[in-house]
Amino acid sequence: MNVPSDLRASRQFGDSRPPHQVSFEFFPPKTDAMEERFWDSVTKLAPLHPRFVSVTYGAGGTTRERTLRMVSQIQSQTGVNAAAHLTCVGASKAEVDAVVRGYKEAGISRIVAVRGDPPEGVGKPFVPHPEGYRSAAELVEGIRRIGDFDISVSAYPEKHPQAPSWDVEIDNLKRKFDLGATRAITQMFFENADYFRFVERAQKAGITQSIVPGIQPIHSFKQISGFASRCGASIPHWLAERFDGLDDDPETHALVASAVAAEQVLELVDEGITEFHFYTLNRSNLVLALARLLGVRPD
Ligand code: FAD
Repeated sequence: MNVPSDLRASRQFGDSRPPHQVSFEFFPPKTDAMEERFWDSVTKLAPLHPRFVSVTYGAGGTTRERTLRMVSQIQSQTGVNAAAHLTCVGASKAEVDAVVRGYKEAGISRIVAVRGDPPEGVGKPFVPHPEGYRSAAELVEGIRRIGDFDISVSAYPEKHPQAPSWDVEIDNLKRKFDLGATRAITQMFFENADYFRFVERAQKAGITQSIVPGIQPIHSFKQISGFASRCGASIPHWLAERFDGLDDDPETHALVASAVAAEQVLELVDEGITEFHFYTLNRSNLVLALARLLGVRPD
């Protein structure tokens, strides 16, 4: 079939569509009920052949065992590559290195390496452990010394709240790549223009590796606004307006959430983006629908 050449990228289909790569982030469940939902979602998303499924790490190592168990089980039960997150806050280098060796022994070859936040929250200054890694960049360097891991690091389209300037922010990302990171995954953002400006700044600084947009579907506007304000991501007025008054109307809330996420993702596709990381919050429905819009379907 002939495809008109002026077709928007998001409307290309079949073989004419560029292949899209997706990855999915989960958090380690705390209770049996949460674990059931976790596995239900993993089982529904695994047949989409994500590049990897990642499991977060409680900042102070609070989920160390659970993260390792979930990641190992995802890999053995679904055959999907799993990535374990790792932080260096509140731990010595020796302790962090032991976790990395544990991942290696368990056959985990992918790590999402981040610094983590102090237990008091992201607003408080980060004080490194006296014998610990002092930043994500140092953590990446330490991981590389131990093994040939695929390492993802963070990036902040709106600047990390603790970065004194854009130069420091971009230098920090460059350093993480120079020390061995494979790709960056962004913090959630809702204005695509912020992401594109960030990528441009990074490219100007000589960064050539992928900066994968981190997409946060809005299952609960109230909850996501809270997360966003804690991690320095802004909620645009137009977005707040779309969800205004929907707290007690879950059906309309869900439909608006899916329209908002679809608009964001398809606009990114139209601008040439082909890789996406989804913050699933251990739910599959919205992410399944978004993957379908990207042409990513189960076998
Ligand atoms: P870094 O890259 O070390 O940098 C943090 C900030 O400090 C940057 O703004 C940087 O510019 C600044 N900085 C670094 N070095 C210097 C320097 N020498 N001088 C001045 N400024 C400097 N948290 C968890 O607890 N568990 C997780 O599993 C987790 N996963 C995440 C996954 C992704 C994709 C993202 C985006 C975040 C994740 N986080 C997680 C949150 C993360 O821990 C926090 O955002 C934390 O505040 C910063 O971590 P980082 O790796 O970005 O730090």
